[in-house]
Parts: sequence; C-alpha cells; structure tokens
Amino acid sequence: RTGWIEVICGSMFSGKTEELIRLLNRAKIARQKIQIFKPALDKRYHEENIVSHNDNSIPSIPVQSAQQISDLAENCEVVGIDEAQFFDEGIVDVCDQLANNGKRVIIAGLDMDYKGKPFGCMPQLMAIAEYVTKVHAVCMVCGEVASHSYRLSPSDERVLLGETDLYEARCRRCFNLGDKAS
Ligand code: ADP
Ligand code: MG
Repeated sequence: RTGWIEVICGSMFSGKTEELIRLLNRAKIARQKIQIFKPALDKRYHEENIVSHNDNSIPSIPVQSAQQISDLAENCEVVGIDEAQFFDEGIVDVCDQLANNGKRVIIAGLDMDYKGKPFGCMPQLMAIAEYVTKVHAVCMVCGEVASHSYRLSPSDERVLLGETDLYEARCRRCFNLGDKAS
C-alpha cells in the first residue's frame, strides 16, 4: 500500500488542530494504528495532549527533534504532527520517508509567521504533500475571512508562544492596517 502526505495549514485559530483531531479520530474508528507528535516546546495547554481552541484533545508524544518522530513512528499506519512549523528542517525528509514507507502522514502547522512570511519548513512540506488544505479563521476586527496571525504585543521574537492575549486572527486588510484597524 502506498503512503501519502496531507498538510493542514492556516493562521492561528483557523481550526488546524480541530481538523487534525477529527481526521485522526476517524482513523482510530477505522482501527488504524495512529501515533501523534508535537514539538516539546509547545506546552501551552497540556504537557502531552494536543488541545484545540474549542477544547478537543487527543494524546500525543512531545518530541525534541524530527528524528525522534521517525524512530517512534515505525509501527503505525497513520502519523499526525501538530505545530509542524516549530520543527527543525529534518522534518521534511522524515515525513517524506514515512510516506515512502507506506504511512499516511497528516501535518498541521502555521503557514505564516506574525509578519506574514512563510513559517519554517511549511512551504517545503506543502510542496511535497499530495493534499494541502488551507483553513481560515474569522477576522477579529471586521468578521471577514482571516488568513493572518496578528501579534498584539511589541515583541519581535519569531517564536513567542501565546494565545488570544498575544495574537488575533485578521484578514489581509486589517492585518496590514495594524494598530489603525482596531
Ligand atoms: P488552530 O489549531 O488553527 O490554532 P484550533 O483548531 O485550535 O485552531 O481552534 C479552532 C477554534 O478556535 C474554533 O472552532 C473556534 O472555536 C475558536 N476560535 C477562537 N477565535 C477564533 C477566530 N478568530 N476565528 C475562528 N475560530 C476561532
Ligand atoms: Mg493548533
């Protein structure tokens, strides 16, 4: 049986984790062996579980590096990865190899950072994937379809873990208007 790669991307609050959990639960119902990973640095909601903003959750293994995923995923049929933008560049080959070995690999991650630039290895992962789904949030300023994650704090670190206190989903226009939009 062949494997393949599916990418779920979008801004913060767009439903990436929700969609990942939905697909993995269906794979569970189909009695497939699944394994879910997240980067160990992301401990916002739970040490181990993957948790969505509408409070769905599913157990995962927090890992420090992409290599650990290939070691731990050996015996499963479906591999889920959340917050893929935070992994090192090894994640691209790891996902490619897992798919080459017959596994279904489902990857969720931010396509853009808070500056609106492509985030980490997401562009590469989207390029090698068989399927790419872009999900959208609601613009917190005007209610339009939101594609961008707007940072409300003045910090300029690329990785600044936070929630509705630090970020809001915005459409392109309100993202570009910055402070003037709100
Ligand atoms: P992501 O993983 O993309 O950050 P989640 O799957 O964790 O998103 O959360 C999606 C949920 O977030 C939605 O079902 C909704 O309940 C909630 N939510 C909060 N703010 C927004 C917003 N601005 N637009 C859409 N959904 C939002
Ligand atoms: Mg998420």
